[in-house]
Amino acid sequence: MQYSSRHLEDLVREMSRLPGIGTKTAQRLAFHLLRVPTEEAVRLARAIEQVRTGVEVCTVCGNIAESQPCRLCADERRDDSQLCVVEEPSDVVVLERTGRYNGRYHVLRGVLSPVEGVGPEQIRLPELVERVRRGGIQEVIVATNPTSAGEATAHAIRELLAGFPVRVTRIARGVPVGSDLELADQVTLTRALEGRKELE
Ligand SMILES: [Zn+2]
Repeated sequence: MQYSSRHLEDLVREMSRLPGIGTKTAQRLAFHLLRVPTEEAVRLARAIEQVRTGVEVCTVCGNIAESQPCRLCADERRDDSQLCVVEEPSDVVVLERTGRYNGRYHVLRGVLSPVEGVGPEQIRLPELVERVRRGGIQEVIVATNPTSAGEATAHAIRELLAGFPVRVTRIARGVPVGSDLELADQVTLTRALEGRKELE
């Protein structure tokens, strides 16, 4: 038996299942949580619980929401004429951090992957077409990751929106090929956003 307490053992095991956290780090974090004031540790536990039980998917953009629609969709100061399409809610956070984009978002929650059986219906592409159909959007900025699946998804979007009076642009390849949007630093991403081009 490694631990004198079953609860401690449970905590270390659960934390070591998180990405990038091995047993050693999990143990260090667990002992840290035992040292800090109880309220502080409980606050973390509560935050985890709330993020799982108190959030839902925004019915408009597909982002994480506490109420319908999400904060970003409800914000009247944002520009309705621009719509940025991203793969995951975490990509919205990265783009927001650049402070250079003030339009709306559409979160696909995935990318096309015929091999894995992921078609347009599974990734909120019909919802995207519907938003464009309703009008008011002048530019759709495709910010899927520069991976082969991200590129394939970008081209599918181009085709789906071909009949609509909107510009479809793709963020520039400032983002290193094959890398995740999430890893791109703010400067690179700001440049990628500003250097976007028409998607052929
Ligand atoms: Zn939303």
